[in-house]
Amino acid sequence: MSSLPERLTAVNQRIRRAEQAAGRPEGAVRLLAVSKLQPPEALVLAYRHGQRYFGESYLQEALTKQISLTHYAISWHFIGPVQSNKTRAIASYFAWVHSVDRLKIAHRLSEQRPSHLPALNICLQVNISEEPTKAGIRPEQLPELVAAVAKLPRLRLRGLMALPARESDFEKQRAPFRRLRHLLEGFSQYGLDTLSMGMSEDLEAAVMEGATWVRIGTAIFGART
Ligand SMILES: *Cc1c(COP(=O)(O)O)cnc(C)c1O
Repeated sequence: MSSLPERLTAVNQRIRRAEQAAGRPEGAVRLLAVSKLQPPEALVLAYRHGQRYFGESYLQEALTKQISLTHYAISWHFIGPVQSNKTRAIASYFAWVHSVDRLKIAHRLSEQRPSHLPALNICLQVNISEEPTKAGIRPEQLPELVAAVAKLPRLRLRGLMALPARESDFEKQRAPFRRLRHLLEGFSQYGLDTLSMGMSEDLEAAVMEGATWVRIGTAIFGART
């Protein structure tokens, strides 16, 4: 069994190799360590080995961890479903939200973002594989949402996020990531710079198609219990 620091190093090496294979500059892709359902000690260990960006999916669990890790310079990202009654806390305690898929939620986040903090970084989650049960806005509804969210004063719209259906074949993994990149390219007038895509099993395909954040849980922390 490898240790957490070894696994973190291996993931960073996978990212650097994938950047090279894609002809992208070193550091073009950032690692978001997805720490949901992991204890604070695991985050501290990753932090001691240089990891600064952590992604959480469950608000209550994330806030409990934030309290016990107050003294660490962590950038917290929310990547789970956002319900209306959670927006105030999310707007107050996170630097990024990757999973916005409705205007109502974006409005609330903008209204509730505390004035002493910089604008909240936002990615719009797209249901890129168009699966009926999955979160995310449908691609054809995206232009309207982008235009509306871009106007909200306390949000900074950064780009798009997707969580495609799992595939093991590299070319099949690439297809939805490529679709997401093409969607982003259609919004060039908005100055978007972010594609949040790629997880433990498919990060190489995502980096090949332009990911700027990869969201990695299992490959760093091991299986979630
Ligand atoms: C859990 C989760 C991940 C990480 O998945 P792994 O397969 O463990 O790397 C990434 N993104 C989102 C939105 C998640 O919920």
